[in-house]
Amino acid sequence: MAKEIDHDLHFLLIPLMSQSHIIPLTDFGKLLAQRGLIVSIITTPHNFTRYKAAVKHAVEAGLKIRMIPLDFPGQEAGLPQGCENMDSLTSMDLAKEFFVACEMLAAPLEQLMAELHPKPSCIISTNALPWTQRVADKFKIPRYIFETISCFTLLCSHILSLDETQEMRAAATDSKPFLVPDIPHRIEFTKAQLPETKKKSSDSNNIESIIEQIKRARHSARATVVNSFEEMEGGYAEGYRKVARTLWCIGPVSLCNKKHAEKLDRGNKVSIDEQHCISWLDSKEPGSVIYTCFGSLCRISATQIKEIGLGLEASGFAFIWIIRGMDSSAEVEKWLAEEKLEERVEGRGLIIRGWAPQVLILSHPSVGGFLTHCGWNSTLEGVSAGMPMITWPMFAEQFYNEKFIVQVLKIGVRVGVEVGVGGKPGAQKEDKKALVKWDRVMKSIQNLMEEDEEGRERRKRAKKLAEMARDALEQQGSSYKNITLLIQDVVHAQQLWAA
Ligand code: UDP
Repeated sequence: MAKEIDHDLHFLLIPLMSQSHIIPLTDFGKLLAQRGLIVSIITTPHNFTRYKAAVKHAVEAGLKIRMIPLDFPGQEAGLPQGCENMDSLTSMDLAKEFFVACEMLAAPLEQLMAELHPKPSCIISTNALPWTQRVADKFKIPRYIFETISCFTLLCSHILSLDETQEMRAAATDSKPFLVPDIPHRIEFTKAQLPETKKKSSDSNNIESIIEQIKRARHSARATVVNSFEEMEGGYAEGYRKVARTLWCIGPVSLCNKKHAEKLDRGNKVSIDEQHCISWLDSKEPGSVIYTCFGSLCRISATQIKEIGLGLEASGFAFIWIIRGMDSSAEVEKWLAEEKLEERVEGRGLIIRGWAPQVLILSHPSVGGFLTHCGWNSTLEGVSAGMPMITWPMFAEQFYNEKFIVQVLKIGVRVGVEVGVGGKPGAQKEDKKALVKWDRVMKSIQNLMEEDEEGRERRKRAKKLAEMARDALEQQGSSYKNITLLIQDVVHAQQLWAA
């Protein structure tokens, strides 16, 4: 632990109640606690039950880290009972209510902060909680934004939101792409791949306007920390620094989980006997297994699931395939049973229904490729494990991540989707344009896993990136130093405001 740290420095971490915010912010909390800080992570009762194991090992190791549950006012905001996490939203139409419920946490949070000892020195909240700035201002402490997306995405989407680019964007169609100006690589998007709409809305309470508020509030914080590392982001961290003033890359935070048990207890309770999973992987050749997982939010239609299953089977490669709880519908189970797919691929394919220990699986030497939906956490976890990836973006910023993986890092092959699915959280639409047939799934796996010259180069680049990621978090690595700068900044802000 660093000796220079004031042992009363108390960092208050507030994630949006969503897997892709809670998991990395908790990891970041562990990295901070390893530097001798006191860390409290705000959560809610259901999320406390789901994630408490994630800090258990750090507490056992003597670190001063805890989760503090606050009652979630979901029902008051119009959400169904027990809905405390974005992954339990039954429809994306409830997203507005979800954000409203989050904002209603302000009052109990303020009450808690008044009672906490030692007094919080700063707030670090994920990018979707602009109201936490008001709370920080009230307590006269600095607030920092924890970005759960890359500098590449931050910079591209900033450029695409500028008035100057609107005309060029408007000229783009689903087949005629649009070139993002003023960035280090030649990156194009079609209209269908862009998540942003510059829609002005008269209803200040709808989801577009909430997203607008979130974007505006990005600049109200004292500084921004990004779950990424400088060596990978190159010109994009530099570029976004011009917009965000102070920005530190502090990741990849998932690398704080070094021990087997830490990699296992990192989110929901896993849905497979871990020993079985590990011995299954142990029985495979190094680099021979393709790991297939689409994150915590995508809803995948039964039709698409069938195509994925057939593609995995036809690829001839060994695979682990995660079918999320919500996706393993009666229709999917009936199909799996009728097709006898599991019997047909016995010994070669392992299907996990529910939650997988993703970081644990990715760090196993038998895994040689990752078929991913390109969520930023999954992308970084793949990078940290030295994985070449098959990119299958579905919505939100995932198309940006695909471009980053394939064109900037050059460690991926595209499955080839041109449009996002209507399958945003909650919308299990049959989207014919977005459907990927089994033969494309098969081909992309074969492209990625086969050992031709291109594949070898891709694998080499992926391994090199993983080394760079590890180095970034080692003492004197770039992310390690950036965490020091953040801690020093909190001390500086305290002195400034006390004067
Ligand atoms: N994850 C996991 N097991 C699963 C599914 C997801 O551990 O079965 C974790 C994954 O490791 C990552 C997070 O959930 O940390 C998903 O975040 P990401 O940004 O990749 O995607 P999202 O869920 O937001 O679409």
